[in-house]
Amino acid sequence: MELDLEKKLSDIKDPARTMAELAPVFEAYNELTERMSRVHEQLQAEVVRLREELRQKNELLERKSRLAALGEMSAGVAHEIRNPLGGVMLYASLLAKDLEDRPDSLKWVNKISTAVRGLNQIVTDMLTFTNNSSCEKTEINLAGLLAEVTDLAGAHGRAKKVKLVTDCDVDLVVSADLNMMQRILLNLVLNAVDAVAEGGIVTIRGRVSRVTQYAVKIEVIDNGSGISQDVISKIFNPFFTTKDVGTGLGLAIVHRLVECHEGIITACNNKNGKGAKFTVLLP
Ligand code: ADP
Repeated sequence: MELDLEKKLSDIKDPARTMAELAPVFEAYNELTERMSRVHEQLQAEVVRLREELRQKNELLERKSRLAALGEMSAGVAHEIRNPLGGVMLYASLLAKDLEDRPDSLKWVNKISTAVRGLNQIVTDMLTFTNNSSCEKTEINLAGLLAEVTDLAGAHGRAKKVKLVTDCDVDLVVSADLNMMQRILLNLVLNAVDAVAEGGIVTIRGRVSRVTQYAVKIEVIDNGSGISQDVISKIFNPFFTTKDVGTGLGLAIVHRLVECHEGIITACNNKNGKGAKFTVLLP
């Protein structure tokens, strides 16, 4: 194009004047090229953003269908276990009455009753996980709710010498089911307390959400062991646990309850490399 232009310029009588006349055209052309390259860069960034959004949505969808299938299976198993378990509980209590004057034997029966109560709790949790109960939303003051939850978790925290901190805008209001919210937050806080060493800190933070379509963001942050990549991918699956005495139903239930609110929950490690963060976004 340059050679062509030079040839054409040699045919022109007053090239300097023609060049001066053409200068604004070149300037406009350069400006346009620059603008187009900026638009191109912006479009490329938008494509990257949309790809990431799609990846996250696909991941959520896959998790949803996996949990739905597991939920169905859990409901079946829970119903099958519940009735015989009720029978065992009844017979153990009758036997305990008969053995009131034989403390040595009574001790064994009481052990059976305790184990059966534990199993019954698991069955109840399994049914809660599969229960499609709708949430009864009311306007809840978030700071008040966080204070209640830290109060409920207080004994567990004190036993481990873990400090529980709440950090919430005082007049932040969330439209949610009070019982479900207590359960969600208590589960997250108790897990966080389990994950930190003696003297650790668990912070529950409430903020207005900056993500459009969600009104409120609640974070439970700890400075504990953190979560390995391997564990993160399974953390919301029912029956997934790394604890000796865990059932692995806590986070599955939390996930289900957050879903009931049309919210989302995510887990990640803290950027400073110490501990984990669970984030709940609610509409
Ligand atoms: P459970 O408490 O019975 O193990 P959960 O579903 O509540 O069941 O938790 C599943 C697993 O997620 C835990 O066993 C633990 O490995 C991991 N986990 C949960 N919360 C945290 C946390 N704050 N830090 C590190 N790991 C966690």
